[in-house]
Amino acid sequence: MYIVQIASECAPVIKAGGLGDVVYGLSRELEARGNTVEIILPKYDCMRYDHIWGLHEAYRDLWVPWYDAAVHCSVYCGWVHGRLCFFIEPHDNDNFFNRGCYYGCSDDNMRFAFFSKAALEFLLQSNKRPDILHCHDWQTGLVPVMLFEMYKHHGMANQRVCYTIHNFKHQGMGGVETLQATGLNQEAYYFQYDRLQDNFNPFALNFMKGGITYSNFVTTVSPHHAWEARFTDTGYGLGHTLHAFQDKFRGVLNGIDYNVWNPEVDRYIPHYFNQENLEGKAENKKALRDRLLLRHENKPIICYIGRLDDQKGVHLVHHATYHALYRDAQFVLLGSATEASINSHFQHEKRFLNDNPDVHLELGFNEELSHLIYAGADMIVVPSNYEPCGLTQMIGLKYGTVPIVRSVGGLVNTVFDRDFDQDHLPEQRNGYVFHQSDFPALESAMDRAIDLWHQEPKEFQNLIQQGMSYDYSWNYPGKDYIEIYDYIRHKE
Ligand code: ADP
Repeated sequence: MYIVQIASECAPVIKAGGLGDVVYGLSRELEARGNTVEIILPKYDCMRYDHIWGLHEAYRDLWVPWYDAAVHCSVYCGWVHGRLCFFIEPHDNDNFFNRGCYYGCSDDNMRFAFFSKAALEFLLQSNKRPDILHCHDWQTGLVPVMLFEMYKHHGMANQRVCYTIHNFKHQGMGGVETLQATGLNQEAYYFQYDRLQDNFNPFALNFMKGGITYSNFVTTVSPHHAWEARFTDTGYGLGHTLHAFQDKFRGVLNGIDYNVWNPEVDRYIPHYFNQENLEGKAENKKALRDRLLLRHENKPIICYIGRLDDQKGVHLVHHATYHALYRDAQFVLLGSATEASINSHFQHEKRFLNDNPDVHLELGFNEELSHLIYAGADMIVVPSNYEPCGLTQMIGLKYGTVPIVRSVGGLVNTVFDRDFDQDHLPEQRNGYVFHQSDFPALESAMDRAIDLWHQEPKEFQNLIQQGMSYDYSWNYPGKDYIEIYDYIRHKE
């Protein structure tokens, strides 16, 4: 099969969160299974050019119709750790991708509407006719809309679209200008409840809703979140739309790429280890302490790695820091906040705790350091308000770092409480789970983990090894996606 991924991120060259990991890891798995995969991305000025090999201009004159004119673009081509990627660079005054950031501009909807249009135009003009277009999140929600309303009539009638939603919170809203710019026009046609009209704001077009409505198949990133998105408020108003399209909607648990996230080969960690031999993990703990100037004492290190925003339960992340200190454990945080108030809160905490030898707060995005933390910490907290899949608990498991998680989304599908899980045998359990989003719930789960670490080290080691034995690679999800692609290719 010939598959093209169209996305706004691909790790490690463009990574703001889990989306980047998924686009890269899934592509590698699909290729390993004998498919041809290409990835179309924006050419951001701030991406990690040091992770691209052989970057060159592949297509000099791509003219993308935009309003009543056309924008001149170049398409660059290069390999990101073995994956073939195409980067689209528009040459005009909007400077859509030269903003020093991936997201967060006031015209994000136009930036990614343009990217979606340019990706299709590139496929059309370069005569690429993939079997499957796999689009991700709101940024590419308009791809299936334009494909089936416009490009289908220009020689792209055989392409099928799989659309994956990584986070329902950000849906991409536009208005009449989006229709005019992309050439979709026909205001009255698209502002319909069964097309792109937002379910709650009749004056807005919803890109993600368009993606759901027009794609041949829609997935979200875990089975439990597929249920939550339909039946709870984590669908952010799209529950009814998902319900209407339930026959083409399902949850496929993300995988993690064990070529990247694997303590046996990870080039960012100083000591390798595996399930049978955990000595290297103890050495990494020492290295982590040295690196972050934490004192060397017989106590567990608890970590948090992730974005600092409301979704992630920041009030509990904050509390976990102090509860760890109260319980005489150490705490390491690696996180970045895009919201100014959250950022200044943690900056303040960092200054306040600066001289404490049992805690380190690292504010910012640091891929290399994250690997050492996964490898050196004993436990990882993931106290999310909601979590479509969550990769950090799965990476933690692979690195023998016991997850302490809240029972939402993909965390439900991947972490099974050592003491209370009813559905798994004791030898299948791999972490700690709490339910309420409050301090006592978090504390009780942390206490159980810390107590086991101190009082029954052998049992704690068993728990680590049980966690490491899980296969959360792309092996199973890769198979699931191939099945979905096959299904939509041969349907009707
Ligand atoms: P989300 O996609 O909601 O941000 P996930 O758990 O799905 O969360 O994926 C998070 C990914 O981003 C993981 O690979 C994690 O290691 C990485 N990550 C998050 N924050 C940081 C950070 N500040 N520095 C380095 N890596 C980070």
